[in-house]
Amino acid sequence: MTAASQAQVFVPRRGSREIELRAWRILERCRKQLGETEIPLPVPVEEWIEHPLGIRFGVADLSYLGEGVLGASFMKEREILIDENVLANEGRYRFTAAHELGHMILHAKLRDRFHDIAHCDREAETIERQADRFAAAFLMPLDLLEREFFALLKQRGLDRRETVIQLMRPTRESQTLWRRLVLPMITQEFGVSFTAAIHRCNGIQPQVDDAPPLLPHSLVEPLLLSALGRTETKTRQDANGDEPNLFTLKEP
Ligand SMILES: [Zn+2]
Repeated sequence: MTAASQAQVFVPRRGSREIELRAWRILERCRKQLGETEIPLPVPVEEWIEHPLGIRFGVADLSYLGEGVLGASFMKEREILIDENVLANEGRYRFTAAHELGHMILHAKLRDRFHDIAHCDREAETIERQADRFAAAFLMPLDLLEREFFALLKQRGLDRRETVIQLMRPTRESQTLWRRLVLPMITQEFGVSFTAAIHRCNGIQPQVDDAPPLLPHSLVEPLLLSALGRTETKTRQDANGDEPNLFTLKEP
């Protein structure tokens, strides 16, 4: 991806590379300042927002900002707040925190503050998509995603090349592999929702010009639906997986 990243097989899809690099630089800055040899997993997003990034972070009742507000960022005050109702869902909580950090890093000059409500509108504003991409890159850094992905294949005795090719095909077998093997590993190791993991894998590709995404576009919808179906089982792991992670901006 960049000289800074260790990822050797995958790159972000075109259009996301600048944001990926911004997220990576922030992660590396935190890691170095804390004297860590590698970025810990799951990425300690709330802790790092406070230190070393020096942004106040809190959980509060945000209903005064409007109905269904999940998170807010205040540029001048350098503060990020997450609504207390989000706490019950670890994946959504972490993604919301990283999304607000994305606004702080990418959009501080555009507005004084952002309020975010849950929304599954794919046509959300550009800045909202950018904050989502930042959050995905921050919580699922590409080189760590690649490392964990190939560790999983090795552990299962799966051939790297063949499995990647299989996963990139929009087949029933591929869908099963994603649903049963790859996506659950990502949700667990990276502390993200099933939905966030789906979008992340659809947003990366092998480092070959014009390669299709690792997770085919045509599998996104059925996998998202299967994530919704998982809600009915009401397990904690599944509860992380049922939430759309796209946000839409609500004017202050
Ligand atoms: Zn937002």
